[in-house]
Amino acid sequence: MFWPFHKEVKLVCFDIDNTLCDSGSAESETEAYMAEIIAKDIKKLQSKVKRKIKHSCSSVTILKIFNDIKNSHMHHDLEPEGFSRNLWFKETIEHLDNDTNLGISMNTLIKNSDMYEKKYWDFLSSKAKLFPNTLSTLDSLRSKGLKLATITDSDGKREIKINRIKTTGLDKYFDYVITTDDTGLNKPAIENWQHLVKISGLKPSECIMVGDHPDIDLVNAKKLGFITVWTKEHLNMDLHHKYVNYEIKDIKEVIDIVEKINR
Ligand SMILES: [Mg+2]
Repeated sequence: MFWPFHKEVKLVCFDIDNTLCDSGSAESETEAYMAEIIAKDIKKLQSKVKRKIKHSCSSVTILKIFNDIKNSHMHHDLEPEGFSRNLWFKETIEHLDNDTNLGISMNTLIKNSDMYEKKYWDFLSSKAKLFPNTLSTLDSLRSKGLKLATITDSDGKREIKINRIKTTGLDKYFDYVITTDDTGLNKPAIENWQHLVKISGLKPSECIMVGDHPDIDLVNAKKLGFITVWTKEHLNMDLHHKYVNYEIKDIKEVIDIVEKINR
């Protein structure tokens, strides 16, 4: 394919979750694990209450409420704080308090939300693995002299996401790490790509954006002039978008795309 507006790719920017890191199944596993912990804590608190408790609360109920709350925030909140798991746990507990008569003080549970947040990220980090060809692809791109970057959504606080990136070992590869805390706006806000262009000093046409979620990762990058790559490594979807220049099934195909453009 001929691209008249760019001659050479100098930077490749990646989304992280489900692009470089297979986080999807780890996330579901983590949510189920946390729902069990909260259900156990509720049971423990109920066992300390003298009067008869009429209602119990299963981990399935907690998981359902947590997922409803997560969906109300994900891809709706523009502020990075909206992706805080601490906030999601607090809202889940408040919701439980409104909906069920568990006979315990929910304040005690709400006070646990810092601890729940920590357990959540520790467990998720232990489960989420990089895709098989992630590191070799980044190594190969670097050896070609390309700059590497990430634009990744906040985990509610910058340091949580930075720690998570360090745990995967990806931090060593990036010249630029932008979490949406840096711009104060979650993706798809165009300010994130504008920020990358500014700090890298490159033209958008010299940059590739790779992501798994086209509406979030690619549409505004394309508007700015980035070359866009939709990675479908973790999904099977027969859907196409005009603003997507390339579709791949394995992250290593980014190397072929760069070689083709820079030939
Ligand atoms: Mg993603």
